[in-house]
Amino acid sequence: MQRYFVSIDNGIIRFLESDIFHIQKVMRNKVGDNIQIVSDGKAYLAEISSINPLEVFIVNPILNESELEKELTLFFPLTKSDKAELVIQKATELGASKIVFFRCKRCVIKLDDEAFKKKAIRYNTIAKEAAEQCHRNKIPEIIGVLNIKDIFSYLSSRNFVAYELLAGNTTNLYDELKDNSISTSLIVGPEGGFEEKEVDELVNMGFKAVSLGKRILRCETAAIYGLSVISFFMEK
Ligand code: SAM
Repeated sequence: MQRYFVSIDNGIIRFLESDIFHIQKVMRNKVGDNIQIVSDGKAYLAEISSINPLEVFIVNPILNESELEKELTLFFPLTKSDKAELVIQKATELGASKIVFFRCKRCVIKLDDEAFKKKAIRYNTIAKEAAEQCHRNKIPEIIGVLNIKDIFSYLSSRNFVAYELLAGNTTNLYDELKDNSISTSLIVGPEGGFEEKEVDELVNMGFKAVSLGKRILRCETAAIYGLSVISFFMEK
């Protein structure tokens, strides 16, 4: 069943124009059909009472809790859009609550804040659609673009920096996840990897350098793999 993020103001259920189009023209829903709506982190079963103009009423709350118990943040470097869009979609499915883009020395893509704001429109749409598809109650927040030193203000209770020079080293992400019930963040480097002094800066900030195994993963694979391992432990 399709799910849509809506706003509910004084009982009035408001959809985005794009969602109204989806319901009317793509899904070709009819009066009496059910859809799921989400507002303020709560999901509801709704029934269509009028298709044009679109009107729905709430049948009952949906009590499935699809969110992770604790916040999961991904710090991801500026990369080509296809990689960024793939990571946003997968990080959303894996339960991330924040996806924070940062710039560092070996990023192949340079974006100023204005240029990022334009990309963020599409990135937010991808996050919303992925959250609807996987029946989440929240859409991850897309934040950017930070310099490494600004990352400090987005730290979690536990923060891991995936460091390729530790590849296969004993300091493995798996070993670090015994206490799975605290907010966690993961930062991965760009295609060219982290500079050593960037890792030092992150470790001084409170990140723990970990290996993601013996192979050198692409940055998008590292992000998806690392979030998979962390969210596996965080699922109740
Ligand atoms: N240029 C680096 C090299 O050739 O060694 C590879 C960087 S890798 C493509 C991009 C990022 O993924 C790294 O900065 C790191 O954060 C993460 N990564 C990839 N494989 C990893 C591993 N086995 N252990 C820890 N981090 C890894």
